[in-house]
Amino acid sequence: MQGHMMPTPLLIAGLLEHAAHWHADTEIVSRPAEGGPLHRYTYARAHARAKQLANALHKMGIQSGDRVGTLAWNTHRHFELYYGVSGLGAVCHTINPRLFFEQLVYIINHAQDRLLFFDLTFLPLVEKLAPHCPKVERWILMTGPEHLPAASSLPNLSAYEPLLAAESADFAWPSFDENTASSLCYTSGTTDEPKGVLYSHRSTLLHSYAASLPDCFNCGARDVILPVVPMFHVNAWGIPYLAPLNGCKLVLPGPGLDAASLFELFEGEGVTFSAGVPTIWFGLLQFMRAGGHRFSTLRKMIVGGASCPPALLRAFDEELGVEIRHAWGMSETSPLGTISTLKAKHLDLAPEAQFFLKIKQGRVIYGVDMKIVDAHGQPLPHDGVAFGDLLVRGPFIASDYFGAAQPGTLLADGWFKTGDVATIDPDGFMNITDRSKDVIKSGGEWISSIDLENLAVAHPAVAEAAVIGVPHPKWSERPLLIVVRKPSHEVSGEELLAFLDGKIAPWWRPDAVEFVDALPHTATGKLLKTQLRKDFAGYELPAGG
Ligand code: AMP
Repeated sequence: MQGHMMPTPLLIAGLLEHAAHWHADTEIVSRPAEGGPLHRYTYARAHARAKQLANALHKMGIQSGDRVGTLAWNTHRHFELYYGVSGLGAVCHTINPRLFFEQLVYIINHAQDRLLFFDLTFLPLVEKLAPHCPKVERWILMTGPEHLPAASSLPNLSAYEPLLAAESADFAWPSFDENTASSLCYTSGTTDEPKGVLYSHRSTLLHSYAASLPDCFNCGARDVILPVVPMFHVNAWGIPYLAPLNGCKLVLPGPGLDAASLFELFEGEGVTFSAGVPTIWFGLLQFMRAGGHRFSTLRKMIVGGASCPPALLRAFDEELGVEIRHAWGMSETSPLGTISTLKAKHLDLAPEAQFFLKIKQGRVIYGVDMKIVDAHGQPLPHDGVAFGDLLVRGPFIASDYFGAAQPGTLLADGWFKTGDVATIDPDGFMNITDRSKDVIKSGGEWISSIDLENLAVAHPAVAEAAVIGVPHPKWSERPLLIVVRKPSHEVSGEELLAFLDGKIAPWWRPDAVEFVDALPHTATGKLLKTQLRKDFAGYELPAGG
């Protein structure tokens, strides 16, 4: 017997429609990519323009399932594309401009993008890409006609604003199956070809609900959200969707991701909540300390995408009075999988014991189920000690990659293998100890490179640290600590190792320390350990050990 409830499909356009009706005058503020003053309008106006865009896309022949690419910052026009494209039933393909040129060419061709919308910043890049991407029919510069270059090698180049100006805002969002594809995001594989994760309207809506919950982002109509995480990185962790769902004011920082520009927006717009990767927050912390600044409205920050170093959490919490919530996820998980917030029974714990929980990647949000398994796929205990491969499943976890060479092979017994290695404690707090390919296997035991890195960056002279396994005749692998010193700071390898002593098991002590000027990173700011392993191939560890 079926329930007697309306079978209304969960569709993305409905989010903006909701905000336009019920939060009509709530603002979206955006720093335009082409410079100039902040752009300011309301959800009502954004909705009208998204409908004008949908009319324009329809006229250009865009149909359900077609891919429309974007190479763009977090701006109001990018927000309109999120809704105009998906609302029509087409797929909004957000492209990460920080990827290597060959990867960009691969992605645009693999996705078969029919149109490509881009910010002025990326004009030189797009001019180089175009000859390699013959399937793109039109290149659309996301600005007014006054910024169109006098001459350009781009075929079929036009500006965004005239396209919209020519259309009416009279458009009825079509209704269709909620499992229809809505957006596409390629993961920045460090070795293989990038892989496309194809989200659906249903997965996006369920993820938006789950991410809004009190123990997750906990946002409402009194919040002002500034996503520092780019809209080309897993849909800015879902913020462009959950902001209209909750009626939050949205502040989009455009290309201005330096600490001074961010601080100006935080203060000027009354931002209460923000989200981004640790590197951004370290930059902001230095800026705050150097200028003796204080936040007047910022209360909460989500840190994810890479492990949150304890020193960062402590500094924001204790010095700046901002709550950090440490989250874990991946492109394949939409991305939120876990987030660290305490349970009632933890509130009486000593501050250090609470800190120990908050620094973990945290508990699953509803919609995600997880387990850890050993090398034979057998479940491991949730004792906070045993660590193994982390597997997840749920309605907003990928079941396959877009256009996969071997479809249907992604899932093992209905579970997605994350490639992360983790512990889970009896209260369900998950802690990532490594990427499975980065964990250091020493004498049959595993050493967590992330734990060692987090400890090393707590040293006042260390700007950044990476730990890799180096082949060892007796132990098979031993850790090598690679460090970037802070400008005008001195520290020796011996001093660093002494700093680690007592904080780690003796056999975790790195066998050597090397200093470098900079560490290699992926396009999403993660340490590129494949490159480090190449750079240190053949490295001779000191005798002994
Ligand atoms: P991406 O799909 O590019 O977002 O990368 C996902 C990967 O980033 C995960 O599989 C983890 O290895 C890593 N990651 C994300 N968040 C965290 C976190 N809080 N701590 C440690 N690693 C993380």
